[in-house]
Amino acid sequence: MFLKRDIDPAAPHHYLVVPREHIQSCLSLHKGHIDLVKRMAEMGKAVLRDQGITDMKDIRLGFHQPPYISVNHLHLHVLAPSSRISEYMKYKFMPETKSFVTEKGLRERLKDNDSPDQNCFGSCMWQQ
Ligand SMILES: [Zn+2]
Repeated sequence: MFLKRDIDPAAPHHYLVVPREHIQSCLSLHKGHIDLVKRMAEMGKAVLRDQGITDMKDIRLGFHQPPYISVNHLHLHVLAPSSRISEYMKYKFMPETKSFVTEKGLRERLKDNDSPDQNCFGSCMWQQ
């Protein structure tokens, strides 16, 4: 797993946590990835703490969902403070929408997902 600064930051702190393993998007994930998602979130939070962020309620952690993804490699967006996400980019990081799912929301969804195909709409068509 490694960390990058988002080149187009939407908040004062905006990082990306990227797993080394090649995973196309959050729709390619299943139950067996819950731990990975957790570890990605933990890394994101650790970085925010390092940067002096103390209000862990005012942060946003989540993934873009296909087809609203810009690169073909899973990455977790880590934004803080969430109350300062810029107005014109807000729609990109709205929790639990078609385009963005929070880390928590994704883990909930993966609990009942034994194989990635079960909730594969966009991404499968998209891979062909
Ligand atoms: Zn993204």
